[in-house]
Amino acid sequence: MASPIALVAFLLVSAAALAQTAPLAVTHVTVIDATGGAPRPDVTVLVSDGRVAAVGREVPIPEKATVVQGAGKFLIPGLWDMHVHWDEERYLALFIANGVTGIRVMWGYPRQLDQRRRIAQGSLVGPRMAIAGTIIDGPKPWWPGSIAAGTPEEGREAVRRTQKDGYDYVKVYSGLPREVFFAIADEAKKLGIPFVGHVPDPVRVAEASDASMKSIEHLTGMALAVSGTETELRRELAAAAKLPAGERGERLRAVGKRILESYDAATAAALYAKLKANGTWQVPTFTVLRYGADPLAPEYANDPRLRYMPLWVRKMWNEDFRKRERTAAQAASQMRLFQRRLELVGEMHRAGVGILAGSDVLNPYCFPGFSLHDELEWLVKAGLPPMAALQAATRGPALFLGRAQESGTVEPGKLADLVLLDADPLQDIGNTRRIAAVVANGKLYSREAIDKMLAGIERLAGSN
Ligand SMILES: [Zn+2]
Repeated sequence: MASPIALVAFLLVSAAALAQTAPLAVTHVTVIDATGGAPRPDVTVLVSDGRVAAVGREVPIPEKATVVQGAGKFLIPGLWDMHVHWDEERYLALFIANGVTGIRVMWGYPRQLDQRRRIAQGSLVGPRMAIAGTIIDGPKPWWPGSIAAGTPEEGREAVRRTQKDGYDYVKVYSGLPREVFFAIADEAKKLGIPFVGHVPDPVRVAEASDASMKSIEHLTGMALAVSGTETELRRELAAAAKLPAGERGERLRAVGKRILESYDAATAAALYAKLKANGTWQVPTFTVLRYGADPLAPEYANDPRLRYMPLWVRKMWNEDFRKRERTAAQAASQMRLFQRRLELVGEMHRAGVGILAGSDVLNPYCFPGFSLHDELEWLVKAGLPPMAALQAATRGPALFLGRAQESGTVEPGKLADLVLLDADPLQDIGNTRRIAAVVANGKLYSREAIDKMLAGIERLAGSN
């Protein structure tokens, strides 16, 4: 078996060899541009200097252009996974191989700022990155390595540091006390850096939205927020938390059941209107929520995509704490909650709330690149039409990131991030997996090149 070093060299050489400087033309293709407009059959898309130069029936093809036959195929914008934790750089090509040309990193490290530079220069194969800073949590953080902010001043200092270190977003977490959360929101507004993450337990979704929280991850706080009796239920949750360990679980489950039963349509409608008006986006991350609900479901342990994961990741997923803790009865009730969450996202979409596709890569069975396609399927199951699901990974991320001028749709002038599909994703969203070629930052990756990248990564994963 080849050594890991040889394999890395192979991947780097492949990257250089694939660099596409000549213009590129995809001919006779059906373009689904993700503006929401109808598909445009039999057009030519010309790419030059890393941008879409022209889209149309009568596009002259330069003599030196590389021509990709698009007849019978479908061209969509490059996809974004808006909730990712991943910094193993030898595996970043998995995103490109899956048509994921952009990711939002939800807990950034300095090495990712460096990876982003090298990807932009073309010396590393990987997606574009928007990067949030270190998680800011309360005085007793859930994850080691988070910033512990127990006072408003510590919260403000964490925001200043996040921006100074070069990150694009502040990420807030569940354990933040109210006054620290609002201090963070205020400081972020002053400095002009958006903040995203979990709605902290003691804060209501409506308050977080009014404080300009830009995205809410994992639907945190939403089940309570659409209850007609949130105030009363919050009091009961606080009381349950003080019970001795033996009684606490059962009481919490009972309150949880009542949270679901006390849904109130008028409360929900008012909240959705607020989220829409304030520009607060939802990133449901169904892929990880589904795992968390039923971690012992048989499909996980046998997932064929495990072959692309390094040993340390396979080991971590295999030993995940959620597998040990979940009983069958809990899984059944958690799956009911999961179903409820699907319904809520369908409702929110119909009410005009912005929804973004994010899988939570690096959580168990959330695979770099591959799982974005799982997430698109969940969004359709939640009730989004396939076009809306597609937009949740293309136009939506561009709008969210403030990059709509140059990204998110297939239109002249946009950056050339494109995915060529063998079948129509509007007929079946699962067809986004049927990738014939990817164009990332203007560079073409043919199916053959993608298969070589995947084989290289499979060998790398198998060698450690
Ligand atoms: Zn996450």
